[in-house]
Amino acid sequence: MIENRVYNFSAGPSILPDEVLLSARENLLNYEGSGMSVMEMSHRSKVYDKIINDAFDHLRKVMSIPDNYKILFLQGGATGMFAAIPLNISKTGVADYIITGNFANNAYKEAKKYMKDVRVAGSTESENFTRIPSQDELTLNPAADYVHICQNNTIFGTAWHTLPETGSVPLVADLSSCILSEPVDVSKYGIIYAGVQKNMAPAGFAVVIVRDDLIGNPQPICPKIWDFGKQAEKNSMLNTPPTWSIYICKLVLEWIMSIGGLEELKKRNEKKAALLYDYLDSQSFYKAQAKKESRSMMNVTFRTGDDELDKKFVAASVEAGFTNLKGHRLVGGMRASIYNAMPYEGVEALVDFMKKFAREQA
Ligand SMILES: *Cc1c(COP(=O)(O)O)cnc(C)c1O
Repeated sequence: MIENRVYNFSAGPSILPDEVLLSARENLLNYEGSGMSVMEMSHRSKVYDKIINDAFDHLRKVMSIPDNYKILFLQGGATGMFAAIPLNISKTGVADYIITGNFANNAYKEAKKYMKDVRVAGSTESENFTRIPSQDELTLNPAADYVHICQNNTIFGTAWHTLPETGSVPLVADLSSCILSEPVDVSKYGIIYAGVQKNMAPAGFAVVIVRDDLIGNPQPICPKIWDFGKQAEKNSMLNTPPTWSIYICKLVLEWIMSIGGLEELKKRNEKKAALLYDYLDSQSFYKAQAKKESRSMMNVTFRTGDDELDKKFVAASVEAGFTNLKGHRLVGGMRASIYNAMPYEGVEALVDFMKKFAREQA
C-alpha cells in the first residue's frame, strides 16, 4: 500500500487501485509526450481517441461483451440512467420493477414519469430489504417492455445471486456496485448499466451495455445526450465526454487485465467477503444485517444492536485508521464496502479491529 493512505471502506466514490493512482501521477503533467495532462487535451485529438477506444475495447474484453451489444459512456450517473432507460426502450409503456432497496425504488419512481404502467413485481420492503425475493414471490407481466432489478443493493448489503427468470422480456439491471467484481453472462441481460464511481473509475459517468435490438426507438422527448442510438453512432462523443474519468477507467481495466481478469477478482473478492462474514457468523457482539442467502460480496452491513455502541465503533475505527465505515442513514449501523481495490490485508485489519473493539466493550 502507498504510504500514509487509510483503509477506505467508502461505498462510493471509493477506493482505486494503488497501481492506477501511481500511473496517473506518473503521467499527470505530460501524457505520453503530448506535453499536457489528459485533463487538458481535446476530446477530438488522436491521443484522446486512443484512450477512449482502449477503454471500450478493454471493457468488451474484460466482461466478454458479445458483438450484438453496444457500450456507451453517458453522463448523469446511474440516476440519469433511471430516466434514460424508460426514455429509450419503452415500447408500450409497461414495465416491471423489483424493489430490493433504495436505488431500485428510485429507479421505479423515475420510470413512472415516462411510462404509463410501471408496476412493482416484487418487493422486500416489509423486511427492510434484508433479502432478495425468490422467483415464486414475483408477479412478472409477460407483456412488459422490460424487467428492472438492482443487482447489488449498496445500502442494504444484499445481492441477486440467481437472476430472475423473465422469459422473453429483457432484463435491465443496475450493476453500479458490483460491476467488474466477478464474471457475468452479459447475454442474459437486455441492458446492464452502472455508475462508475464504485468499482470502475472516479465519479463522472455511467456505463451502459445495451443489446442492439433495444436501440433506436427512443421516446420523442428523450434528450439527445441520452439517446442510446445517437450516442452509439458517435462513439459516446456526441458532446464532450468526462475525459479524465474515462482515462482512469481505462487504467482500472488495464489493472484488471494485469492481475488475471474477472475470474481472479472473483476469487479475491470471495476470499475478502468470506473473512468478514465468517467472523460475523462466529460471534454475537455484531450482527450481520442481510440474510445469509442474499449477502453482497461488495457491501457488508452489520450492527451491534445498540445505536450508541455503533457510533462509538465508527469513531474508534477512524482513530484506528479506517474510514467510511458508518452505515447509510436508512439502515444505521456499519457498512464495509470492500470493492475490487480493497486489499485482503485491509479486511484482515478491519476484522482484527472489530475483535479488539468487541473485547474492550465486554
Ligand atoms: C451509487 C448507486 C447509484 C447512484 O449512482 P449515481 O451515479 O450517483 O447516480 C445507483 N444505483 C446503485 C446500485 C448505486 O450503488
